[in-house]
Amino acid sequence: MSDMFKLIADYIGVENGLSISNPANGQHITTVKDWQADEVDRAIITAAEAFKSWSEQTAKDRARILQRWFHLIMDHQEDLAQIATMECGKPIAESRGEVAYGAAFVEWFAEEGKRTYGDVIPSHAAGKRIITLKQPIGVISAITPWNFPIAMITRKIAPALAAGCVAIVKPAEATPLSALALGVLAKKAGVPAHVFTVVTTTGPVKIGKILTTHPIIRKVSFTGSTAVGKILMQQAADTVKKTSMELGGNAPFIVFDDADIEAAVDGAMASKFRNAGQTCVCTNRFFIQDGIHDEFIRLFTAKVAALKIGPGNEAATQIGPLINGAAVQKIAKIVTSTVAAGADLRLGGKRHPAGDNFYTPTILTNVTMDMPAANVEIFGPVAPIIRFKSEAEVIAAANDTPYGLAAYFYTQGLGRVWRVAEALEYGMVGINEGILSTEVAPFGGVKQSGIGREGASCGIDEYMEIKYCLMGL
Ligand code: ADP
Repeated sequence: MSDMFKLIADYIGVENGLSISNPANGQHITTVKDWQADEVDRAIITAAEAFKSWSEQTAKDRARILQRWFHLIMDHQEDLAQIATMECGKPIAESRGEVAYGAAFVEWFAEEGKRTYGDVIPSHAAGKRIITLKQPIGVISAITPWNFPIAMITRKIAPALAAGCVAIVKPAEATPLSALALGVLAKKAGVPAHVFTVVTTTGPVKIGKILTTHPIIRKVSFTGSTAVGKILMQQAADTVKKTSMELGGNAPFIVFDDADIEAAVDGAMASKFRNAGQTCVCTNRFFIQDGIHDEFIRLFTAKVAALKIGPGNEAATQIGPLINGAAVQKIAKIVTSTVAAGADLRLGGKRHPAGDNFYTPTILTNVTMDMPAANVEIFGPVAPIIRFKSEAEVIAAANDTPYGLAAYFYTQGLGRVWRVAEALEYGMVGINEGILSTEVAPFGGVKQSGIGREGASCGIDEYMEIKYCLMGL
């Protein structure tokens, strides 16, 4: 096997383990340990012991370790990118970008960990003093998806560890190798044993239940589908755990007549086709105003038709495979049912000869709000386009969804920028921008897209409790 597997050699090739395959060609890659319930239980108890010493270290000492972890991740950028592309299929350039993005959370929270200040509050009565302390919440569990196998882990683990928490992570079944590689590098950086444990399993439901119900676990952080997030919240309710939920989206991308059309088309490409459309902030519905509609479709179609499709490890590839056959079937069904409902197939609409898991980038026009493509989270390279007339009409349509993660709009009108940004019921809004994610800004959704924020200075608060102390003099 190639060099990158040296990193995780101790964890792979396990008999009767979880089997991992490459979505680009279906080939078996390796197997990893299939953790059993009693082992996870013991890991939680051991983590609680590790919490004592980790939380007692100074924030500065923890920061030094996290900074070493950051540098090690970046030193292994190419190895990690190849692992990610091999197990999740995304184009290698995107995987390199994900490594840098994922590492940035480690660097950021190494710094933020030193600034988790409490308050001294002017007292309500003479002879009394009030202070607040921020303290790490304890043992946390994280359940993460396959579409960002590196960044969705560091975005949770870096703030948790910086705050003084200890963490158990269950990565998605499809992408445990990236998680194990991060674990190996964390250990190399000096993260003590049992402070960061990666639990790989063929049984996410059974192991997920332990990670959301065990009384020692004080917080659950999840990124994945809204349906699973609801189950995990219910499970966590019994022991009243704090939860962070980054769930599904139904992102609108609105282009007004007064937009810079070239910029809008570039933004549309970036926001729709990253990771073959498999991100929770990918555009799900394009709303294009009457006056610019036909020209937008002409320019957009030319760019989409030119996308290079192929295995992620080929340098020219812009669209890799979908994660598995079920994802391809789901996309195909959305397209055929939307066309059956009256939409026009402008481009694509079929599987791609590159392999079983490939789907051709697709554009659907004359889509209306009642059609499947406008309502379900597509999570694939399909762009439904809806025509609209007025600002009021498009805001109502954009908000007419139970989701509220990311939204995008393009306009040159200053007043419209404020009106629309404030009216959109979404946690994140791109204004003349098609890509939003950065470690310095708060990532998260409203409505059924989630609870809590990741990244930014507030991201570490998700892993801390505020303790109020009243002192009589
Ligand atoms: P996706 O559709 O992107 O695969 P999921 O929400 O199904 O999203 O999966 C995200 C993560 O949730 C994965 O790590 C998966 O193993 C985990 N998961 C799925 N179902 C459950 C469950 N019932 N309990 C705990 N974890 C689960």
